[in-house]
Parts: sequence; C-alpha cells; structure tokens
Amino acid sequence: MTGPRRESSRERQGRLDGLTHGAAAWDGLKVVVAGVGVSGFAAADALVERGADVLVVDERETTPARERATVLEMLGATVRLGPGAADGLPGGAVPDLVVTSPGWRPDAPLLVAAGTSGVPVWDEVELAWRMRPESGAAPWLTLTGTNGKTTTVRMLTSILTAAGRRAVAAGNVGTPVLEAVLHPRPYDVIAVELSSFQLHRTRSPRPLASACLNVAEDHVDWHGSSAAYAADKGRVYENTAVACVYNVADPATERLVRDADVVEGCRAVGFTLGVPSIGMLGVVEDVLCDRAFVPERATSAAELGSLDDVRSAGGGTLAAHNVANALAAAALARAYGVPPFAVREGLRAFRPDGHRIATVARADDVTWVDDSKATNPHAAAASLAAFEHVVWIAGGLAKGATFDDLVRGQASRLRGAVLLGRDAGLIADALARHAPEVPTVRVDVADTGPVQLMDAVVDRAGRLARPGDTVLLAPACASMDQFDSYAHRGNEFAAAVRRLLGPGASADGE
Ligand code: ADP
Repeated sequence: MTGPRRESSRERQGRLDGLTHGAAAWDGLKVVVAGVGVSGFAAADALVERGADVLVVDERETTPARERATVLEMLGATVRLGPGAADGLPGGAVPDLVVTSPGWRPDAPLLVAAGTSGVPVWDEVELAWRMRPESGAAPWLTLTGTNGKTTTVRMLTSILTAAGRRAVAAGNVGTPVLEAVLHPRPYDVIAVELSSFQLHRTRSPRPLASACLNVAEDHVDWHGSSAAYAADKGRVYENTAVACVYNVADPATERLVRDADVVEGCRAVGFTLGVPSIGMLGVVEDVLCDRAFVPERATSAAELGSLDDVRSAGGGTLAAHNVANALAAAALARAYGVPPFAVREGLRAFRPDGHRIATVARADDVTWVDDSKATNPHAAAASLAAFEHVVWIAGGLAKGATFDDLVRGQASRLRGAVLLGRDAGLIADALARHAPEVPTVRVDVADTGPVQLMDAVVDRAGRLARPGDTVLLAPACASMDQFDSYAHRGNEFAAAVRRLLGPGASADGE
C-alpha cells in the first residue's frame, strides 16, 4: 500500500502562485507562523479564518504572547511557545509556507530550515497583498527610508483624509497591513510604512505610488551589509504603477528608482528643499510647489501649502527634515489624485507622534526638546540641524554606528554635550577628534544610580545652556541599555526637566 502522495515543491509553488486574493484556495494550506506578535497574530487569524492549518511558534512566553496564543487557540490554530518552540521546522509534514514576523533575523533556525527544505517564507505584508479583495481593492501608497517613515506616513494619511478619502496608516507604523486590508468597512486607500525587514521578504505588492525618503547606514547586522540593506529598501519601488518618489538630496534613492522594475509609464518624481525642476516637488521662497502633477508643468506649478503649514510637525520648530517629509507625503498623495488644497489642510491637521522634536518646556529663554526617536546618527544630524545653538544629550546603544560625520557636520552649533549610556565613549571620542572645544560631560549610572540618571543629565545640560539655546535629547543611539524603549527614555527626560524647572516653566502640546 502506498500512502498519500507528497506534493512536489513545484506543485506547492503552483498552489501558492494561485493565492492572489482573499477568496482564493487558502483552505487546507499548512502554514507555520513564526512569531506571535501583532503581525503574527493578524496573519494567523486571517489564515485560520480561511481554513488554513496553522501552527504558530514563538520562543517568547511573555504575558501578551500568552494572551494572543489563547485567542488563536480558541480560533483553531495550534500554538507552541517557549524555549525550543522555534528551533526548526516542527516535526511531521513539511509546511507549504512559513509566514514570519518582520523582526525575525534571516538566520533564525526556523527560517534557515525553511530555506533548506524549499519552503517559501513570506512576510505579513506579502500575505496582506495576496488577501486583498479580488476586485475593487484599495490601492497602496508605500514608503520606506532610514528615517522619517512614521512621520511621513502619518502626514500622508492626514492629507488623504483631508481630501475626503477613507484612509489608514498601516505596516511598520503599528496596525498590521492585513488588518487594514481585511477591515470590515473597506478603506479607499492604504498608506503603508515598510521597514527594510518587511521589504526583504515582500515580492508581490504593486503600489500605485512609492517612496524611499533616504538611505543611511542602519541595521547592517541584520541585512549583512550596507549594500544589502539599500537593495532591500529599493524593493519599495518594484512594480509601482504611477510614481516612484525619490529624494533629490539623496542620490542613492534615485539610483534605487533607476534599478527598479516598474509598470510601463510609471514616472520618477523627485522632492527637494530647493526650487523644483520639471517633474519635482519643492520649495520656492516659503511655498511648497508641485511641478510634477500639474498638466502644464513646463510653465507653471501648483501651490500645495507653505512652510508655516509644516511648522507644527516639529512642535513649533521648522525642521528641514519635516519639510522633506511633507513634500514626500504630498507627492504620494498627488500621485493618487488628491487636490492641492487637501495637502495644505492635511499638513495643518497633522500632529507628530511623541518624542519627535517635541518641545517639553521653555524657561529662562532655554527650550528643552525631546527627540528621543533620533536613534541613529542620520536622524540626530537632522534633528541638530533644526536648531542654532544646542546643548546636545546623546548616547546609548550605537548598534555599530560611527559618529565622526555627525559630529563634524554639526560641531558649529554645539554649545556643549552631555553623554550617557553604554556607547557614550564612542561619541566622546568623536567630539574629542572633531570638536575638542565643545565642553563634554559624561554621566554614568555608577555615579548617580539609575533613578537619578536623567536628573543628573538634565542638571548638567542646564548648566551648559545659555539664553537662546536649545537643550536637545537626540541620542543617535538606541535606548535599550538603560531604558525600556525610546518612549521611556523621552518620558524620563521630560519628567526630569519638569523637576528641574519646577512649576514656572511653560510647555507646548500639553
Ligand atoms: P522612522 O519611522 O523612520 O523611525 P520617524 O518619523 O519616527 O521615522 O522619525 C524618527 C526620527 O528621525 C525623528 O525623531 C527625527 O530625529 C529623524 N527624522 C525624521 N524625518 C527625517 C528625515 N526625513 N531625514 C532625517 N531624519 C529624520
């Protein structure tokens, strides 16, 4: 007697190729979902609902992981949590597909085992594209970049909403793309923020328009090299239909557009802080101008808004990087067809997420600003450039980054520096090399105790500041050596500033 014939990998591939919409033949598909985080949960939920045979694995056994596991088990998935759960492909039949959470490194044993067995590995974003309705699906506007993604995707959603469209920001910004795609009240258009990790495993999306805001060194440990990281960022442009939006000031982004396979007729549209050439969006005096999506672009431009409309994105500070983000968002929205007035209204209505150039207090003519989200040197450089004289608070986990370019470029505006965290020494060395005249203080937990750490930092910074200066937390490093997250670090900073200044200080946004 012979048992049931095992599907050949070609047959399996044929079956997967047919999974191009939400009502396709998902039933009976054997899927391992790697990770029970927010996107893993969304993937498992959607697959189980379509009759797939789903096993979810995760090494973590945190309370939220257990809670999500309980719900998924009730829905009909099998869940294995704890040490060893993700050591390789689970025993028994080889699955048809692995769907991985974005954070899982390519060398995770389960993903390596999938590769060895010829099992395709998808990301939740790939799954979301393939679960769109067969007809009438909302178009996607996609964007990536080393910095500015969340700000830009939220500006974009605000513009789309101002134009009267039902829009949502999804992807790396928090809401899984699957949730947006399968929402019971369908969206008109979906603004998708994509990290380099998500792009690494995503092949199918055909965005209406796409953008890469900038490419700086980051996450090299995950991708293996800077070139591999940039190539993954470039995937955002693949199969774009109407417009690939690039940053004129960052030639790497334009190169990525040139290398992409796009739909015939798709245009490359640049954004610039300078006067725009034909086919670009840019700035003339204080006006945001569109010379790409106007019919008579050879001779005229459309006015989209003004620099003042962007100011609130920086909590009252007009930061050049937010003008760039606004132009990128406008380009994506204009490619989709929103009228110019909606750009202005959308930018005016936009409020940044916390810890992104948030002014926390003003006292004695000194402004205290929390940009804890500046977690790499490229972001910190943009942040410092928004102010004339800065007492800079920096340090934490460098993630392999170097600080020479950052310090060299920003030395002239530094009134002083207060350094904290594990890699403070790297920044101190860069300051000693390129800005030896800048007074630098290092604050060590060994001297202060963890509770007083931020109090000591803020106290030292306050002593260095002179009237008219800004004290800026823009650490250029990740926070996890001393804090739970960048938000925790920013909150500690704001609380310490309030303690130092007492009730007399004024604050914005409260
Ligand atoms: P992401 O989602 O890519 O991390 P965010 O919009 O959350 O980006 O911004 C993170 C930080 O990066 C900000 O706090 C700011 O310091 C910096 N930043 C924002 N936009 C840009 C940009 N266009 N270029 C460089 N740095 C930027």
